[in-house]
Amino acid sequence: MPSGHCGAVRHENPFADELLTSWHARQRHSRRGRALPEPKAVRNRKGDWRHPDIRPTRAWLNGTADDLNVPATRLVEHSLAKHYPYLPVDFLAWEHPPGSAGSTGLIPVPRLHVSWCSRCLAEDFASDRPAHVRRQWVLAAVGYCHRHRWPLEDRCNGCGSRTWRFAMPARGPLRMICDACWQPMERTSAPAIYAGKDALLCWDHVIAFEQQCIGAIKGRTPDQFRFNFTSADQLLNEVRGICRLLTRKPPNDEYWWCRTRNIPLNDFACDAMTPGYMGLQFYSSDTLNPLAAASPLLRRRLLAAACGIIETNPEIGAALFGPDAPSAIERFIARADRGVLDRLLMTDGHWSSAFISQIKAARERMARRFTISKLEAAHRAIRNVFAHASTNEQTEPRDLAGQS
Ligand SMILES: [Zn+2]
Ligand SMILES: [Zn+2]
Repeated sequence: MPSGHCGAVRHENPFADELLTSWHARQRHSRRGRALPEPKAVRNRKGDWRHPDIRPTRAWLNGTADDLNVPATRLVEHSLAKHYPYLPVDFLAWEHPPGSAGSTGLIPVPRLHVSWCSRCLAEDFASDRPAHVRRQWVLAAVGYCHRHRWPLEDRCNGCGSRTWRFAMPARGPLRMICDACWQPMERTSAPAIYAGKDALLCWDHVIAFEQQCIGAIKGRTPDQFRFNFTSADQLLNEVRGICRLLTRKPPNDEYWWCRTRNIPLNDFACDAMTPGYMGLQFYSSDTLNPLAAASPLLRRRLLAAACGIIETNPEIGAALFGPDAPSAIERFIARADRGVLDRLLMTDGHWSSAFISQIKAARERMARRFTISKLEAAHRAIRNVFAHASTNEQTEPRDLAGQS
């Protein structure tokens, strides 16, 4: 049977790109009579979390295979670990990251943060296919739907609520609806529709960068033309390190006790990343990878900045941050916490040699410019002194003449 059979017929198999728990939720929906427990992350004997979407436990696989009458091997094929074998936990989008304490001080069960592409959902509805969550929608280094080249969303466009559920309307396929106002999630955001050509070009640059990150979590070596001598691991390390530095509070910030907007990321303004929000500013974060807990808006801004900093092609930086903006890598060096940056640069093999030399070259350029500007200032000062002296010389005799 083809996965994604239409209409009221039950969908036995997950769609090719479907998240395992999305498929499970759809199954629960179509079997109201027989309650199936909602899959949750569980801790193994060593205390490590096992999430059903990432690497489901044998027990869950066998139980679910029996309940839903599908082979367990079929389920394994849909796990994130199978598709992205080199996926670090912090390159997933988390509502509650594993090991994080909640506001109550208790440690909540890890839960993935699901975003969605309204156009994919609209396409599902139009082709009478049940709405389903795509695997790519839970990746932390993805802010766009790569199929539609369209920004992902995580809030209802009607009321701003972040909770949604599957609902079966009287007619038509299963839909994703807002829990608060019941509006279907395939309604797209108006500012994205009116995005101009320049904005679309910015989206494309960031999408190309995201594709390299997805390749890396699949274990693929990055495009060596763009990321010279960079391994998959090194690319992810660079993205993580840059995002961390971009959101870190300055070491001597006066607001050391609370979050501040005085962070390097806010120097990398790019309104195309946040349609509908002009000049959006973000708060500091002290996590190792802020991408893991970021909204799609913050994710896109972080990825745009990381793309501008790592990519050597100056056209990309100009497209993202404007033709007159200073070079992204220099702005990054000027604003990032020097101590942390130096430590990252010195960790052996952590970052690629190509990126390290890019940073060194940029530092040299900045030092040279600084020396030149100092010399010029000194030169100007000397000239002023002479100019002053010569005007004095010219005026003095006259003054004397006046006095006599
Ligand atoms: Zn889409
Ligand atoms: Zn709503």
